[in-house]
Amino acid sequence: MIDISLQQDQFEVVPALVQPTLVEVLKARVKAEMALDVALPQVHTLPIDQMLQARLASFDPEMEDAEADNAFYIADLGEVYRQHLRWKALLPRIEPFFAMKCNPDPMVMRLLASLGAGFDCASKNEIQSVLNMGVDPSRIIYANPCKQNSFVKYAHTNNVRMMTFDNAEELHKIKRFHPEAQLVLRILTDDSKSLCKLGLKFGAPLDTTGFLLATAQELGLNVIGVSFHVGSGCFDANAFGEAVIRARRVFDQAQEYGYEFNFLDVGGGFPSAHVTEGITFEKVATILGPTVNALFGPEVRVIAEPGRYYVGSAFTLATQVIARRTIVRDLAEAFTADQSHSPSHMYYINDGMYGSFNCIMFDHQVCEPKVLVKDNAFTYKQVVAEPHGYASVWGPTCDSIDCISPKSSLPLMETGDWLYFENMGAYTITAASQFNGFRKSEILYTTSEQEVSLHF
Ligand SMILES: *Cc1c(COP(=O)(O)O)cnc(C)c1O
Repeated sequence: MIDISLQQDQFEVVPALVQPTLVEVLKARVKAEMALDVALPQVHTLPIDQMLQARLASFDPEMEDAEADNAFYIADLGEVYRQHLRWKALLPRIEPFFAMKCNPDPMVMRLLASLGAGFDCASKNEIQSVLNMGVDPSRIIYANPCKQNSFVKYAHTNNVRMMTFDNAEELHKIKRFHPEAQLVLRILTDDSKSLCKLGLKFGAPLDTTGFLLATAQELGLNVIGVSFHVGSGCFDANAFGEAVIRARRVFDQAQEYGYEFNFLDVGGGFPSAHVTEGITFEKVATILGPTVNALFGPEVRVIAEPGRYYVGSAFTLATQVIARRTIVRDLAEAFTADQSHSPSHMYYINDGMYGSFNCIMFDHQVCEPKVLVKDNAFTYKQVVAEPHGYASVWGPTCDSIDCISPKSSLPLMETGDWLYFENMGAYTITAASQFNGFRKSEILYTTSEQEVSLHF
């Protein structure tokens, strides 16, 4: 296997290829600002530890109004930028269309728009927010195979033409509301090697694609190619190669129905940057890139819909321990059973399952708390004191499902101390609710890459 893993210093050669000129950047910025007419939050250039410290230092427990003890995120836009460069370096042929449902943060979106990425949208609101940034409708794929009528009309009115389908009813709908659409047939692939099995809901089995192509042809619709999604949180890089082979079969089949396909969409499911063992982005690229090149000529435009890949590692969440319960054990039990493995404390923090940690339920994530402030000492990325047995960590709502970690190894924490969670950028804040009156955690922005400043 070829080693195509990137060294940090290799990134330096790439910006010239991918970075628009300063004039282009400034023009896009003016256009976007006119469209939005909002003041942007400040993007700092401090390292994450200093961002955390500065925010915590602004916390004065004597001040009543500020709510400076709320949980908050530090977003490192430099991480998003590096992921983009890495994509361009390892999969140069494949155009990334960011799956915005993963994290539609306005700053992330603007950075990616400015870098020239496209967008995978699933609803009218998502399309609208991308168009509002001044992004051309040709840089949007409406990648939801089952769409609401009025949303299809909206796409038509706004000249968003690329959209996916996987059933015949959708073709009739599109014929009625958007007859000039450029249709992409989403096929079913093997998603058994993924945490989120999207095949349960979407994708045409290969024994139905003939019928769908025949229907499209009868309706006079323009089908341009194939898409798939190996499943979110995919843990087998081979799934991508197998899916591309399936797509090739449908390309060949399409010719029987008079279609000359020239578009392939390899979907999402790419691992985030913090994944360094098992399936890594390098491994996926090593399989995907050559397979695509071997099976599809240069006339075929290839795009992908990465979501977590771009943002997973870019967000760090800081939360305060707002309450603590010491578990009092029955004396008899304490003398008989081995207590070393059962939690001795319950910590309650100010973001939970109904907020950022919905990823535990919806995205099968395991969120590991780390100590940020204890005994007034700042311990980000430091090895802290001996763990004090086990503890469970809970969110702030009154629901018992609101458990973040049933068993964590932590030192003894006091109310008012802080915990942090890394890699909280994907499928977290986007689905956070305000259940029980708790606000979504605020986001502070920084960048570990200077170039990012040019894009705002
Ligand atoms: C959710 C989704 C994605 C993004 O998936 P990731 O695993 O975050 O990369 C891409 N395409 C479609 C159609 C999706 O529904």
